[in-house]
Amino acid sequence: MQAEIIAVGTEILLGDILNTNAQYLALELAELGIDVHYQTVVGDNPKRLENTLFHAFSRADLIITTGGLGPTEDDLTKETGAKYFQEELVLDERAFKRIQKYFQKTGREMTQNNKKQAFVPKNSTVLYNDNGTAPGIIIEKNQKIMIMLPGPPKETVPMFENQVKPYLQKRQEYTFVSRILRIAGVGESAMETKVKDLIDAQTNPTIAPYAKDAESILRITAKAKTKQEAQSMIAPVAEEIYNRFGHDIYAEGETNMQTVTAQLLLKKAKTIATAESCTGGALASALVEYPGISSVFLDGTVTYSNEAKQKRLGVKQETLQKYGAVSAETAKEMAEGAANTAGTEIGLATTGIAGPNGAEENKPVGLVYIGLTIDGVTQVKQCHFVGNREKIRTRAVYTALDWLRRELLK
Ligand code: ATP
Ligand code: MG
Repeated sequence: MQAEIIAVGTEILLGDILNTNAQYLALELAELGIDVHYQTVVGDNPKRLENTLFHAFSRADLIITTGGLGPTEDDLTKETGAKYFQEELVLDERAFKRIQKYFQKTGREMTQNNKKQAFVPKNSTVLYNDNGTAPGIIIEKNQKIMIMLPGPPKETVPMFENQVKPYLQKRQEYTFVSRILRIAGVGESAMETKVKDLIDAQTNPTIAPYAKDAESILRITAKAKTKQEAQSMIAPVAEEIYNRFGHDIYAEGETNMQTVTAQLLLKKAKTIATAESCTGGALASALVEYPGISSVFLDGTVTYSNEAKQKRLGVKQETLQKYGAVSAETAKEMAEGAANTAGTEIGLATTGIAGPNGAEENKPVGLVYIGLTIDGVTQVKQCHFVGNREKIRTRAVYTALDWLRRELLK
């Protein structure tokens, strides 16, 4: 089955809103093993919408549209779909009742326009909308399927998840299962090199490498008749990848570094304090994202000036004078100062040059020192990050958390 996604809406064309529906649907369809060869955005214009739809059906079997199901004159997706399938629009009583109820519940006044939303092409399946007024629609005729979904993502996503996905799954002979391995501290190309032989030899499961923010990801996908079968096909491949990467694989699935490190801190019941210069509180903020972290995360300071580093963390004036604020020595004293003043087992500190200004001789933009003290033993890591100010700061936080995670695993 070949599919296309059409997002309808002038706002998307103008760039006022981002086409997140297309991204969502593309990911979901890939997961279902349905190939998407084109994605289109078209404005709320009847002729262009019609051209787009007819053209899409000339090369695909399944068209999924989002948007243009609303009550106003320029919402024309249903009319256009009905035209393609040569079906008339008829009132769906149940959809109409639900729309009336929706207005009662929200206390808004229902206009005559809203009745338009309850009209659906004859011989179609109505997807009732639990999160809005516009019902979605599936029409299927002569091997062609059109699925129309509402535009607002809070309506599109649950409707797809609860109603469209089971419908599509039933038509797919095979199921696709993926496992996502998240890898830290290894760049995308280094990661790829390390598994190149596996990637080259792959057929089923397939291994897809990609990079996201500060991390690299390997997605293993298997195609099989059942979920269990797919899972057991993935298992040995995943095991081989674990053998090669070890603790570089920090987690699987939808999670992130701060979550994993926070969970580990809680599991080990190790108290921590942070002291930050170049990351300006982002490290503390990342830890605080995790609910329940308060039992181990006791203190976080942002010591931007030399005075603050001395006054609040006890960094020595001589250290700052001799080595500078961005130095291994300062990072060490910051980490120890954080742990000492807060009375924690762990102190984690960052000091660096986030740019674009501030570079000195032998201290380029992107130079960051991370200090980590655990149970009285202090280490410092020197890092060189590339990118703009935001990237450098993000990477510093990520690397500090990753280092702490690795130390906690020892
Ligand atoms: P409504 O009943 O709200 O009018 P609709 O189905 O007619 O729904 P649109 O009018 O096309 O949908 O879009 C409504 C809103 O949904 C847009 O203002 C936008 O915020 C959001 N939206 C529409 N299409 C997309 C898209 N492709 N990706 C993300 N958001 C979208
Ligand atoms: Mg609309």
